[in-house]
Amino acid sequence: MARAFLDQCIAEHMAGKLSVEKAAMSKYWLTETQFEVLDECVQLHGGYGYMAEYAVAEMWADARVQRIYGGTNEIMKELIARGFAETGQ
Ligand SMILES: Cc1cc2nc3c(=O)[nH]c(=O)nc-3n(C[C@H](O)[C@H](O)[C@H](O)COP(=O)(O)OP(=O)(O)OC[C@H]3O[C@@H](n4cnc5c(N)ncnc54)[C@H](O)[C@@H]3O)c2cc1C
Repeated sequence: MARAFLDQCIAEHMAGKLSVEKAAMSKYWLTETQFEVLDECVQLHGGYGYMAEYAVAEMWADARVQRIYGGTNEIMKELIARGFAETGQ
């Protein structure tokens, strides 16, 4: 589902039709979902999942920062809300 949504956003972006709100939604939702999945993966691996020597720990750390850089997800929510407030939708 995430891949399909991202592909749609890329297509809209390439066509110059991707709205600020939808771009913010994709950044917010995709990075939250990525983090949730990786956090479950760390849990599944137990202590090994937390050790830097294992790929899953690195993937978790990479997923964690996605919610911060490129604009934090709190700011994404603000952009989404502001867009809806302006259009009245
Ligand atoms: C590994 C890494 C690479 C980076 N690379 C780049 C880069 O290449 N180019 C670049 O320009 N920047 C880069 N950054 C910076 C990144 O974009 C900022 O860290 C990010 O935008 C958040 O800003 P900040 O760190 O100042 O946090 P702050 O703005 O201080 O935010 C701290 C906390 O307060 C919350 N917050 C702030 N304002 C509000 C608000 N109005 N409402 C609700 N919550 C709020 C935030 O969501 C966050 O949880 C990078 C950061 C990292 C960690």
